[in-house]
Amino acid sequence: MDLDPGLRDILIAILSLSFLVFVALFGHVPALRKTPIGWGHHFMWKIMPGWFITIDMKLTGGRVVRTIKGLFNYVMYEKHPLIQLFYLGLVTGGLYLFYLGAWDRLWSTFHTIMVPIVASLPYITLYLASYTDPGYILPENHRGAMKLYPFDYINFKPGYHCSTCRFEKPARSKHCPICKHCIAKQDHHCVWINNCVGHKNVKYFFSFLMSTNIILLYGFYLTSIMIHRLVVESLPVGTDMSKVGWGLYFNQFMLCLVLDVSLGIVCLLCMMTGLMSIGFTGYHFYLLWAGTTTNETFKWSDWKEDIAADEVWMARDPSRNPYTGRWPSSGPLNAYNWPVQTDKLVYRIVNPEEMEYLDKHLVWNRVENINELENIYDIGFWKTLESVVWDLKF
Ligand SMILES: [Zn+2]
Ligand SMILES: [Zn+2]
Repeated sequence: MDLDPGLRDILIAILSLSFLVFVALFGHVPALRKTPIGWGHHFMWKIMPGWFITIDMKLTGGRVVRTIKGLFNYVMYEKHPLIQLFYLGLVTGGLYLFYLGAWDRLWSTFHTIMVPIVASLPYITLYLASYTDPGYILPENHRGAMKLYPFDYINFKPGYHCSTCRFEKPARSKHCPICKHCIAKQDHHCVWINNCVGHKNVKYFFSFLMSTNIILLYGFYLTSIMIHRLVVESLPVGTDMSKVGWGLYFNQFMLCLVLDVSLGIVCLLCMMTGLMSIGFTGYHFYLLWAGTTTNETFKWSDWKEDIAADEVWMARDPSRNPYTGRWPSSGPLNAYNWPVQTDKLVYRIVNPEEMEYLDKHLVWNRVENINELENIYDIGFWKTLESVVWDLKF
């Protein structure tokens, strides 16, 4: 394939940059931890900063690092709209370029009606996801929050208190240091929406993801067809398109993309961010399917490592479950009618002396495989989806 060297360099630069951004943002995901992507992430966030700190200590006595740390702490641990504004800037900028380069080229009334509708979706869903209560647990609704999910006695055990909020932590909740509250069924704190994703706003988070995917796919579809038409026009009149080789076609496509700048930027932007956005959405659908949350996947991956280190012990305690025999077959799901129950107890024992603290009336066995630990929150994809759409009020 004879690709113009200038175009090839641009392509290589764009691809390498996307790869680096991917490593920086997603290299910490448990599945990637022991891969070159995970090592790259470690190098970027741990080893390189170490070198930088050493050099700064020598040159300025650490002043640059202190300033960066202050900024970093603000960006990472305070509520601020920087990333929201970045998102809005990308969407608005993209739409403006679309208006400049593509609006007049729309070929049917259907699209002139659809474009404004699709364009408004990210603004509406971003607003909903950002400004809906993700499920703040307050003293006045704490009792209700405790009844949302049963304890699984693996990742969530009763009797643990949040040191900031000063109440018992409900199952599946997590204290968010940025939102400064415990959040019911906390998934993660999302910088794109400047809010936690939790029990009450996860449906808006999904609609935000979906509307981002839709605008990017639709934008890519429209602009790539327009560029295809430019390619056809750029070839000699009467060229049989079925005889044009992939190499020539691709070359012409890239050339038109660069020549018609606004159209080209929209097309490339939609393609690259679209891949990321769809991958991220796919990951969240996987979490629904697995009946888990981002927060819980980190806990599960810790258990996996602890099991490999022979540190996890399990016992059955049939006398424990207070809800046995009280399982209504219908009604909204909550801790009292949760369809899956477990009588297992799971503990991590690092030092052999800690075995003393385990209940001596029970028979303790070492866990050999993660599959022995049951995820009671996995009630199937459709039920989980239903609980996302029709969240229980508390
Ligand atoms: Zn808390
Ligand atoms: Zn938060």
